[in-house]
Amino acid sequence: MAKLIDGKAISKEIKEELKKEVAELKEKGIEGSLAVIQVGNDAASTVYVNNKKKACEYIGIGSISYELPEETPESELLRIIRELNERSDICGILVQLPVPRHINEDNLIREISPKKDVDGFHPQSVGAMTIGETGFLSCTPAGIIQLLKRSGVEIEGKHCVVIGRSNIVGKPMALLMLRENATVTITHSKTVNLKEICKMADILIAAVGKPGFVDDSYVKEGAVVIDVGIHRDENNKLCGDVDFEKVEPHVSKITPVPGGVGPMTIAMLMKNCVESMKR
Ligand code: NAD
Repeated sequence: MAKLIDGKAISKEIKEELKKEVAELKEKGIEGSLAVIQVGNDAASTVYVNNKKKACEYIGIGSISYELPEETPESELLRIIRELNERSDICGILVQLPVPRHINEDNLIREISPKKDVDGFHPQSVGAMTIGETGFLSCTPAGIIQLLKRSGVEIEGKHCVVIGRSNIVGKPMALLMLRENATVTITHSKTVNLKEICKMADILIAAVGKPGFVDDSYVKEGAVVIDVGIHRDENNKLCGDVDFEKVEPHVSKITPVPGGVGPMTIAMLMKNCVESMKR
């Protein structure tokens, strides 16, 4: 079995499935569009927004985008979100993060109707995920579950160590692994004996936000390693939280950067949009 977990191929597989579903929904007269709100012109955000628009086009749903100036007041954003909440042609609303400092992103997230919260960041979505009720799952962690399942990694009963406890990756990741019946350890910047804990992992998920942080001294022989990090190295090349060269010889499976977790996030966003149309 291949050692490299191919996020590009798996995300394509998911988008093909969604394309079919969207065509079937259209035949029943069900259509919808994703609304994307971007404030300011951060270059990385523009790339992400464009990729999201392209993915919508690919699976056959609409997209509308609001590209607003940096100085847009929070009240105006809240007004736009409220308007989008009411529109029946909009299946999902997302605010591209980060937003400028004068805006409180939590206020924006809370304003989005949980019915259209396709990023899965609303407290109601997080709560639903925690107790296993229906709601939108946070895209990156949900994408990682798909990566594992679709590349034949058994999760049930395995010890999973997550490095990182952010609200958008670490915490939801740990909850979703728990939901899949893994035994889960969450580690973070204050964890003592991090290496020893990581070395116990059957599945190690690195969401630490530091380039090349995880080397072979963190990894048990034969473990599965998932690298969530995205960084640019000194040569402007994309790299992850894992030192791939050092770790790869010791693992049974590993995600590369790029081409691992990254493409899955957008695929799962599309999955949430289609789910919203169905609901
Ligand atoms: P974050 O900075 O919010 O969180 C990092 C976490 O790592 C924190 O919880 C912190 O406690 C922990 N940490 C920091 N230093 C540590 C140390 N020395 N030892 C142990 N733990 C430590 O980052 P995030 O938003 O969770 O993102 C993590 C990484 O994933 C980033 O590189 C980000 O760019 C990437 N990311 C990728 C995708 C994707 O689609 N592939 C999506 C979101 C985030």
